[in-house]
Amino acid sequence: MYLINIDREKCTGCGQCVDICPSGVFQMGDDDKTDPFNASECVGCMSCVESCPEQAIAITEM
Ligand code: SF4
Ligand code: SF4
Repeated sequence: MYLINIDREKCTGCGQCVDICPSGVFQMGDDDKTDPFNASECVGCMSCVESCPEQAIAITEM
């Protein structure tokens, strides 16, 4: 299991994490920021962390 933390102050809603995640963890929320609604499917690949231009995502193994 992985804990996904989004820094909502930093997230610009660019959608990169939605597009790159192989497990479909993210969707865009009503507030135009990313929502890790499917966090239980995270495989810890770190693609989202590496692709986020704002360094807004932190993944922690639980
Ligand atoms: S890649 Fe980063 S800035 Fe873009 S939507 Fe995802 S968390 Fe927000
Ligand atoms: S670490 Fe990989 S599987 Fe987990 S949310 Fe990020 S892109 Fe998706």
